[in-house]
Amino acid sequence: MNDTLFGKIIRREIPATIVYEDDEILGFKDIAPQAPVHVLFVPKHELIPTLDDATPEQAALIGKLALAAAEYARREGLAQDGYRVVMNCREHAGQTVFHLHLHLLAGAQLGRFGS
Ligand code: C5P
Repeated sequence: MNDTLFGKIIRREIPATIVYEDDEILGFKDIAPQAPVHVLFVPKHELIPTLDDATPEQAALIGKLALAAAEYARREGLAQDGYRVVMNCREHAGQTVFHLHLHLLAGAQLGRFGS
């Protein structure tokens, strides 16, 4: 269980700057930030490789990832100016770590996306 790079971060086997934690979700700063604020939110107890692997039974957990990002953004004063949340799924989205995670990007005007 959780035997991915992010599993190692969850188990504190490799370092990360952890900025959010609750019973189910860990949030830590992305090592290669794509915006002034770039935080990854990951489920702590369930290894879901991609969004495509998520089941209806995991719907609440998927929702909690988004709500954790929203709570963090409010706490850090990012909500008023706004932010972006992204999940990359497999090759065309450039997914590199196959442990479901939500990116939170904020702190500047973000460019459009899709190409
Ligand atoms: O969505 P994707 O799989 O591409 O995102 C993985 C993210 O994990 C990347 O943004 C990468 O910078 C980040 N990462 C990290 N710490 C590591 C390895 C990767 O924050 N040790």
